[in-house]
Amino acid sequence: MLGPTLLRASRNERLRGVIERNPLTRKVVTRFVAGEDQDAVLAVVHRLHSRATTTLDFLGEDVSDLAGARRVRDQYVSLLYRLHEAGEAERSEVSVKLSAVGQSIPRDGHETALGHALQIAVAAAAVGCRMTLDMEDHTTVDSTLAIGDELRREFPLTGNVLQANLRRTAGDLAQLAGSGARIRLVKGAYREPESVAYQRKSEVDAAYRQGLHRLMASDCYPMVATHDPAMIRDANDAAQRHGKGLDGWEIQMLYGISAGLQAQLARSGHALRVYLPYGTDWYGYFMRRLAERPANVAFFLRALARG
Ligand code: FAD
Repeated sequence: MLGPTLLRASRNERLRGVIERNPLTRKVVTRFVAGEDQDAVLAVVHRLHSRATTTLDFLGEDVSDLAGARRVRDQYVSLLYRLHEAGEAERSEVSVKLSAVGQSIPRDGHETALGHALQIAVAAAAVGCRMTLDMEDHTTVDSTLAIGDELRREFPLTGNVLQANLRRTAGDLAQLAGSGARIRLVKGAYREPESVAYQRKSEVDAAYRQGLHRLMASDCYPMVATHDPAMIRDANDAAQRHGKGLDGWEIQMLYGISAGLQAQLARSGHALRVYLPYGTDWYGYFMRRLAERPANVAFFLRALARG
């Protein structure tokens, strides 16, 4: 029950204020967030690039005004040039939440997000960096997949994310199977109604496994985003069955989670990409990480109690 409660809390503005203002929260947040600004995240990128590639997420979501959406676009564009100057662009990717670049704006949200995503894609291509569109709650899936399709006409390396918990995902995967797109498969981090999403962990895991096999059998480049060792074993088996070598797919994990497993996979020759969130708007991201694992809540409460 704790998980759904925390996911509800992730969209509660009053609680956001209370948690963000608590000076002790910050200490715990740094476990999951790579830093507050570009300098901080670039230092982590530099440290990680000897053993993994990275994908950078400028934290923020549900931006509902045009000026805010433009600021997020500008942040990505300047980050891309900083990555280029630092010689790190080719081993990096940017992960963009479309709700942060205009998708949530009531009128013309889709077109605004498409325009901003295109500008980020142009900058990414100019410096040899990749880009993936994160997937948010189920109401955004049609728009996000359509923007992915549109961007791939000019920038074929643009990635999309599919969430195994959504009942529609098998159909979406079938649609994308022949596209050669880069597809990140995740279990799904948002609280969704039963009408559109599997509710039980066993159902989500079964759907993830099915998704893995379909993705490995497809023309797409699979980005297997999970910390679940059983899913990684399945991904390895499916890759072998479908003749995909270690350079034909990658594993992705979040910064600060399962660090031991990340090191082990990198040592074993797997292509590993670490997802690095940075910025000050960490509330929604942080609450989703707490919701995924009750032990994180205990860790958080212990840290608060210790002061
Ligand atoms: P689980 O079954 O939840 O966990 C397996 C094991 O992993 C756990 O037993 C635990 O040991 C470890 N673990 C998992 N989560 C945590 C945690 N928070 N803290 C500590 N240990 C943990 N979701 C979206 O909806 N849209 C996206 O665009 C998206 N992008 C992602 C990108 C990457 C690179 C990754 C790794 C995840 C992304 N997610 C996204 C989140 C995803 O949907 C899951 O919520 C998250 O990955 C937890 O699921 P799991 O596959 O790790 O499996």
